[in-house]
Amino acid sequence: MSGPILQVNELSVRYPVGARWLQAVDAVSFSIDRGETLGMVGESGSGKSTIAQALLHLVPASGGSVVFRGARWLELGRNELRKSRKHIQIIFQDPLASLDPRMTVGELIGEPLKEHRPDLGRAERLERIVSMMERVGLARAHLNRYPHEFSGGQAQRIGIARALMLEPQLLVCDEPLSALDVSIRSQVAMLLKDLQRQLELAILFIAHDLASVRFSCDRVLVLYLGRVMEIAPRDALFGKPRHPYTAALLQAVPIADPVRAKARRISPLGGEIPSPLTPPSGCVFRTRCPLAAPRCAQERPALRQVGASVLACHFAEQTQLAR
Ligand code: SF4
Repeated sequence: MSGPILQVNELSVRYPVGARWLQAVDAVSFSIDRGETLGMVGESGSGKSTIAQALLHLVPASGGSVVFRGARWLELGRNELRKSRKHIQIIFQDPLASLDPRMTVGELIGEPLKEHRPDLGRAERLERIVSMMERVGLARAHLNRYPHEFSGGQAQRIGIARALMLEPQLLVCDEPLSALDVSIRSQVAMLLKDLQRQLELAILFIAHDLASVRFSCDRVLVLYLGRVMEIAPRDALFGKPRHPYTAALLQAVPIADPVRAKARRISPLGGEIPSPLTPPSGCVFRTRCPLAAPRCAQERPALRQVGASVLACHFAEQTQLAR
Protein backbone atom coordinates (compact mmCIF):
# COMPACT_ATOMS: atom_id res chain seq x y z
CA MET A 1 0.00 0.00 0.00
CA SER A 2 1.30 3.50 -0.73
CA GLY A 3 -0.67 6.55 0.43
CA PRO A 4 -4.35 7.37 0.03
CA ILE A 5 -5.89 7.31 -3.41
CA LEU A 6 -9.17 8.58 -1.95
CA GLN A 7 -9.49 11.19 0.79
CA VAL A 8 -12.99 12.07 1.98
CA ASN A 9 -13.23 15.11 4.26
CA GLU A 10 -16.36 16.02 6.24
CA LEU A 11 -18.66 14.73 3.49
CA SER A 12 -22.33 15.58 4.08
CA VAL A 13 -25.45 14.69 2.11
CA ARG A 14 -28.92 15.94 2.99
CA TYR A 15 -32.31 15.81 1.31
CA PRO A 16 -35.36 18.03 1.68
CA VAL A 17 -38.33 16.10 3.09
CA GLY A 18 -41.34 18.40 3.16
CA ALA A 19 -40.29 21.45 5.14
CA ARG A 20 -37.42 19.63 6.86
CA TRP A 21 -33.98 18.26 5.99
CA LEU A 22 -32.97 14.63 6.25
CA GLN A 23 -29.28 14.45 7.09
CA ALA A 24 -28.28 11.15 5.45
CA VAL A 25 -24.50 11.66 5.82
CA ASP A 26 -23.09 14.00 8.45
CA ALA A 27 -19.47 15.18 8.13
CA VAL A 28 -17.94 11.79 7.37
CA SER A 29 -14.17 11.59 6.84
CA PHE A 30 -12.05 8.63 5.78
CA SER A 31 -9.33 7.64 3.35
CA ILE A 32 -8.50 4.55 1.32
CA ASP A 33 -4.97 3.61 0.27
CA ARG A 34 -4.00 1.95 -2.97
CA GLY A 35 -4.40 -1.79 -2.56
CA GLU A 36 -6.49 -1.39 0.60
CA THR A 37 -10.01 -2.61 1.32
CA LEU A 38 -11.99 -0.40 3.66
CA GLY A 39 -15.14 -2.06 5.02
CA MET A 40 -18.16 0.14 5.76
CA VAL A 41 -20.74 -1.33 8.13
CA GLY A 42 -23.85 -0.16 9.92
CA GLU A 43 -27.58 -0.90 9.99
CA SER A 44 -29.97 0.12 7.21
CA GLY A 45 -30.33 3.89 7.28
CA SER A 46 -26.76 4.47 8.47
CA GLY A 47 -25.79 6.24 5.23
CA LYS A 48 -23.47 3.62 3.68
CA SER A 49 -25.07 3.53 0.23
CA THR A 50 -25.55 7.30 0.20
CA ILE A 51 -21.79 7.75 0.63
CA ALA A 52 -21.23 5.39 -2.33
CA GLN A 53 -23.76 7.33 -4.41
CA ALA A 54 -22.06 10.64 -3.57
CA LEU A 55 -18.66 9.23 -4.61
CA LEU A 56 -20.19 8.15 -7.91
CA HIS A 57 -21.81 11.57 -8.44
CA LEU A 58 -25.28 9.96 -8.29
CA VAL A 59 -26.40 12.26 -5.47
CA PRO A 60 -24.98 15.74 -4.78
CA ALA A 61 -22.94 16.35 -1.64
CA SER A 62 -24.19 19.21 0.52
CA GLY A 63 -20.81 19.75 2.16
CA GLY A 64 -17.24 18.53 2.46
CA SER A 65 -14.71 17.52 -0.14
CA VAL A 66 -13.37 14.43 -1.87
CA VAL A 67 -9.85 14.19 -3.28
CA PHE A 68 -9.43 11.26 -5.68
CA ARG A 69 -6.15 10.65 -7.56
CA GLY A 70 -5.07 14.12 -6.43
CA ALA A 71 -8.08 15.94 -7.96
CA ARG A 72 -11.03 17.58 -6.24
CA TRP A 73 -13.47 14.91 -7.33
CA LEU A 74 -16.79 16.52 -6.44
CA GLU A 75 -15.92 19.68 -8.33
CA LEU A 76 -15.01 18.12 -11.69
CA GLY A 77 -16.83 19.62 -14.66
CA ARG A 78 -18.97 17.46 -16.94
CA ASN A 79 -16.21 16.79 -19.48
CA GLU A 80 -13.53 16.02 -16.91
CA LEU A 81 -15.95 13.77 -15.07
CA ARG A 82 -16.83 11.85 -18.25
CA LYS A 83 -13.14 11.14 -18.80
CA SER A 84 -12.36 10.32 -15.16
CA ARG A 85 -15.46 8.32 -14.22
CA LYS A 86 -13.83 5.11 -15.44
CA HIS A 87 -11.40 5.25 -12.51
CA ILE A 88 -14.22 4.50 -10.02
CA GLN A 89 -16.44 1.53 -10.80
CA ILE A 90 -19.19 -0.16 -8.80
CA ILE A 91 -20.33 -3.71 -8.17
CA PHE A 92 -23.97 -3.99 -7.18
CA GLN A 93 -25.79 -6.18 -4.69
CA ASP A 94 -28.09 -7.87 -7.21
CA PRO A 95 -25.97 -8.83 -10.21
CA LEU A 96 -28.89 -9.97 -12.41
CA ALA A 97 -30.85 -6.77 -11.83
CA SER A 98 -27.84 -4.67 -12.80
CA LEU A 99 -27.20 -6.42 -16.14
CA ASP A 100 -29.28 -5.63 -19.25
CA PRO A 101 -31.05 -8.94 -20.03
CA ARG A 102 -31.09 -8.18 -23.79
CA MET A 103 -27.30 -8.07 -24.06
CA THR A 104 -24.97 -11.05 -24.32
CA VAL A 105 -22.16 -11.55 -21.82
CA GLY A 106 -19.63 -10.41 -24.41
CA GLU A 107 -21.62 -7.24 -25.13
CA LEU A 108 -22.08 -6.49 -21.42
CA ILE A 109 -18.40 -6.88 -20.57
CA GLY A 110 -17.26 -5.06 -23.70
CA GLU A 111 -19.68 -2.12 -23.48
CA PRO A 112 -17.42 0.10 -21.30
CA LEU A 113 -14.60 -0.36 -23.84
CA LYS A 114 -16.86 0.79 -26.67
CA GLU A 115 -17.53 4.04 -24.84
CA HIS A 116 -14.11 4.76 -23.36
CA ARG A 117 -11.74 3.03 -25.81
CA PRO A 118 -13.22 3.64 -29.27
CA ASP A 119 -9.67 3.43 -30.64
CA LEU A 120 -9.60 -0.36 -30.10
CA GLY A 121 -10.37 -2.51 -33.11
CA ARG A 122 -12.90 -5.36 -32.96
CA ALA A 123 -10.24 -8.10 -32.61
CA GLU A 124 -8.37 -6.35 -29.80
CA ARG A 125 -11.63 -5.63 -27.97
CA LEU A 126 -12.63 -9.28 -28.19
CA GLU A 127 -9.21 -10.36 -26.93
CA ARG A 128 -9.54 -8.08 -23.89
CA ILE A 129 -13.08 -9.30 -23.18
CA VAL A 130 -12.08 -12.96 -23.29
CA SER A 131 -8.99 -12.33 -21.17
CA MET A 132 -11.10 -10.58 -18.51
CA MET A 133 -13.70 -13.37 -18.61
CA GLU A 134 -11.02 -15.94 -17.93
CA ARG A 135 -9.60 -13.81 -15.16
CA VAL A 136 -12.93 -13.85 -13.28
CA GLY A 137 -13.56 -17.57 -13.88
CA LEU A 138 -15.86 -17.41 -16.93
CA ALA A 139 -15.21 -19.32 -20.15
CA ARG A 140 -14.95 -18.08 -23.74
CA ALA A 141 -17.95 -20.33 -24.47
CA HIS A 142 -20.07 -17.96 -22.34
CA LEU A 143 -19.52 -15.01 -24.72
CA ASN A 144 -22.83 -15.27 -26.57
CA ARG A 145 -25.03 -16.32 -23.69
CA TYR A 146 -27.45 -14.08 -21.80
CA PRO A 147 -27.35 -13.13 -18.08
CA HIS A 148 -30.50 -15.09 -17.15
CA GLU A 149 -28.74 -18.31 -18.18
CA PHE A 150 -26.29 -17.90 -15.29
CA SER A 151 -26.41 -18.56 -11.53
CA GLY A 152 -26.18 -15.60 -9.12
CA GLY A 153 -22.48 -16.28 -8.51
CA GLN A 154 -21.66 -16.38 -12.22
CA ALA A 155 -23.75 -13.25 -12.84
CA GLN A 156 -21.71 -11.49 -10.15
CA ARG A 157 -18.55 -12.59 -12.01
CA ILE A 158 -19.96 -10.91 -15.14
CA GLY A 159 -20.58 -7.73 -13.09
CA ILE A 160 -17.02 -7.84 -11.73
CA ALA A 161 -15.55 -8.35 -15.21
CA ARG A 162 -17.57 -5.43 -16.56
CA ALA A 163 -16.47 -3.20 -13.66
CA LEU A 164 -12.80 -4.07 -14.15
CA MET A 165 -12.72 -3.69 -17.92
CA LEU A 166 -11.54 -0.07 -17.74
CA GLU A 167 -8.87 -0.82 -15.11
CA PRO A 168 -10.40 1.34 -12.35
CA GLN A 169 -8.34 2.34 -9.35
CA LEU A 170 -11.24 2.33 -6.88
CA LEU A 171 -13.96 -0.29 -6.78
CA VAL A 172 -17.10 0.42 -4.77
CA CYS A 173 -18.67 -2.92 -3.76
CA ASP A 174 -22.20 -2.27 -2.48
CA GLU A 175 -23.24 -5.43 -0.62
CA PRO A 176 -21.58 -7.57 -3.33
CA LEU A 177 -22.16 -10.90 -1.59
CA SER A 178 -25.48 -10.53 0.21
CA ALA A 179 -27.71 -11.67 -2.68
CA LEU A 180 -25.60 -14.81 -3.24
CA ASP A 181 -26.10 -18.28 -1.77
CA VAL A 182 -23.93 -18.82 1.29
CA SER A 183 -22.01 -21.57 -0.52
CA ILE A 184 -21.04 -19.15 -3.33
CA ARG A 185 -20.14 -16.15 -1.18
CA SER A 186 -16.69 -17.32 -0.18
CA GLN A 187 -15.77 -18.06 -3.83
CA VAL A 188 -16.74 -14.55 -4.96
CA ALA A 189 -15.07 -12.98 -1.90
CA MET A 190 -11.88 -14.91 -2.70
CA LEU A 191 -12.06 -13.81 -6.34
CA LEU A 192 -12.35 -10.15 -5.31
CA LYS A 193 -9.41 -10.52 -2.97
CA ASP A 194 -7.24 -12.14 -5.65
CA LEU A 195 -8.14 -9.49 -8.21
CA GLN A 196 -7.42 -6.75 -5.72
CA ARG A 197 -3.94 -8.11 -5.06
CA GLN A 198 -3.17 -8.55 -8.76
CA LEU A 199 -4.46 -5.10 -9.77
CA GLU A 200 -3.55 -3.15 -6.59
CA LEU A 201 -7.14 -1.95 -6.39
CA ALA A 202 -8.54 0.20 -3.62
CA ILE A 203 -11.94 -1.17 -2.53
CA LEU A 204 -14.77 0.39 -0.54
CA PHE A 205 -16.61 -2.72 0.69
CA ILE A 206 -20.11 -1.94 1.97
CA ALA A 207 -21.75 -4.81 3.84
CA HIS A 208 -24.13 -5.92 6.56
CA ASP A 209 -22.46 -9.26 6.93
CA LEU A 210 -19.64 -8.90 9.44
CA ALA A 211 -18.11 -12.28 8.54
CA SER A 212 -17.50 -11.13 4.97
CA VAL A 213 -16.09 -7.81 6.22
CA ARG A 214 -13.71 -9.68 8.51
CA PHE A 215 -12.54 -11.84 5.62
CA SER A 216 -12.24 -9.11 3.00
CA CYS A 217 -11.21 -5.85 4.72
CA ASP A 218 -8.00 -4.29 6.03
CA ARG A 219 -9.77 -1.57 8.02
CA VAL A 220 -13.40 -1.07 9.00
CA LEU A 221 -15.49 2.09 9.34
CA VAL A 222 -18.64 1.84 11.49
CA LEU A 223 -21.48 4.24 10.65
CA TYR A 224 -24.58 5.13 12.63
CA LEU A 225 -27.21 7.64 11.51
CA GLY A 226 -24.84 9.10 8.95
CA ARG A 227 -21.96 9.65 11.40
CA VAL A 228 -18.69 7.80 11.91
CA MET A 229 -18.67 5.91 15.20
CA GLU A 230 -15.35 4.11 14.83
CA ILE A 231 -12.60 3.42 12.29
CA ALA A 232 -10.04 0.76 13.12
CA PRO A 233 -7.79 -1.86 11.59
CA ARG A 234 -9.76 -5.08 11.08
CA ASP A 235 -8.07 -7.15 13.80
CA ALA A 236 -8.32 -4.36 16.38
CA LEU A 237 -11.99 -3.77 15.62
CA PHE A 238 -13.01 -7.41 15.78
CA GLY A 239 -10.65 -8.28 18.65
CA LYS A 240 -11.16 -5.21 20.81
CA PRO A 241 -14.13 -3.07 19.69
CA ARG A 242 -13.98 0.24 21.54
CA HIS A 243 -17.18 2.02 20.57
CA PRO A 244 -20.35 0.72 22.29
CA TYR A 245 -22.11 0.57 18.91
CA THR A 246 -19.33 -1.53 17.35
CA ALA A 247 -19.43 -3.83 20.36
CA ALA A 248 -23.21 -4.17 20.07
CA LEU A 249 -23.00 -4.98 16.34
CA LEU A 250 -20.45 -7.69 17.05
CA GLN A 251 -22.58 -9.00 19.92
CA ALA A 252 -25.51 -9.32 17.52
CA VAL A 253 -23.62 -11.95 15.50
CA PRO A 254 -25.04 -15.32 16.63
CA ILE A 255 -22.71 -17.69 18.52
CA ALA A 256 -23.47 -21.42 18.32
CA ASP A 257 -21.72 -22.21 21.65
CA PRO A 258 -24.27 -21.50 24.49
CA VAL A 259 -21.51 -21.11 27.12
CA ARG A 260 -19.73 -18.39 25.12
CA ALA A 261 -23.06 -16.76 24.25
CA LYS A 262 -24.00 -16.57 27.96
CA ALA A 263 -20.62 -15.04 28.82
CA ARG A 264 -21.33 -11.95 26.72
CA ARG A 265 -21.11 -8.85 28.85
CA ILE A 266 -22.94 -6.29 26.76
CA SER A 267 -26.52 -6.74 25.56
CA PRO A 268 -27.13 -7.12 21.85
CA LEU A 269 -28.49 -4.03 20.17
CA GLY A 270 -32.13 -3.37 21.06
CA GLY A 271 -34.71 -1.05 19.53
CA GLU A 272 -34.74 0.62 16.15
CA ILE A 273 -32.35 3.14 14.63
CA PRO A 274 -34.00 6.59 15.16
CA SER A 275 -35.33 8.57 12.19
CA PRO A 276 -32.63 10.72 10.58
CA LEU A 277 -35.30 13.45 10.43
CA THR A 278 -35.19 13.69 14.21
CA PRO A 279 -31.75 12.45 15.31
CA PRO A 280 -31.03 12.39 19.05
CA SER A 281 -29.14 15.40 20.44
CA GLY A 282 -25.47 15.05 21.40
CA CYS A 283 -24.34 11.52 20.63
CA VAL A 284 -26.77 10.05 18.07
CA PHE A 285 -26.27 6.55 19.51
CA ARG A 286 -27.30 7.56 23.04
CA THR A 287 -30.92 6.28 22.85
CA ARG A 288 -29.61 2.72 22.41
CA CYS A 289 -26.30 2.94 24.23
CA PRO A 290 -26.01 0.89 27.44
CA LEU A 291 -23.32 3.28 28.71
CA ALA A 292 -25.12 6.60 28.01
CA ALA A 293 -24.69 9.35 30.62
CA PRO A 294 -26.24 12.86 30.89
CA ARG A 295 -23.27 14.40 29.02
CA CYS A 296 -24.11 12.23 25.98
CA ALA A 297 -27.41 14.11 25.43
CA GLN A 298 -25.72 17.51 25.56
CA GLU A 299 -22.47 17.21 23.66
CA ARG A 300 -21.62 15.64 20.31
CA PRO A 301 -18.53 13.47 20.83
CA ALA A 302 -15.59 14.35 18.59
CA LEU A 303 -13.65 11.67 16.76
CA ARG A 304 -10.36 10.94 18.47
CA GLN A 305 -7.64 8.34 18.51
CA VAL A 306 -7.73 5.78 21.32
CA GLY A 307 -5.36 2.85 20.93
CA ALA A 308 -5.58 1.57 17.36
CA SER A 309 -9.07 3.06 16.83
CA VAL A 310 -10.43 6.46 15.94
CA LEU A 311 -13.84 6.76 17.60
CA ALA A 312 -16.57 9.15 18.71
CA CYS A 313 -17.43 8.47 22.35
CA HIS A 314 -17.02 10.69 25.40
CA PHE A 315 -15.99 7.68 27.45
CA ALA A 316 -13.78 5.95 24.92
CA GLU A 317 -11.04 5.25 27.46
CA GLN A 318 -13.48 3.66 29.90
CA THR A 319 -15.66 1.66 27.51
CA GLN A 320 -13.25 -1.28 27.46
CA LEU A 321 -13.34 -1.42 31.25
CA ALA A 322 -17.13 -1.19 31.33
CA ARG A 323 -17.57 -4.31 29.21
S1 SF4 B 1 -20.89 9.21 23.86
FE1 SF4 B 1 -22.25 8.33 25.40
S2 SF4 B 1 -24.04 7.59 24.28
FE2 SF4 B 1 -22.41 7.92 22.80
S3 SF4 B 1 -21.42 5.96 22.60
FE3 SF4 B 1 -20.28 7.07 24.16
S4 SF4 B 1 -21.23 6.47 26.11
FE4 SF4 B 1 -22.65 5.87 24.47
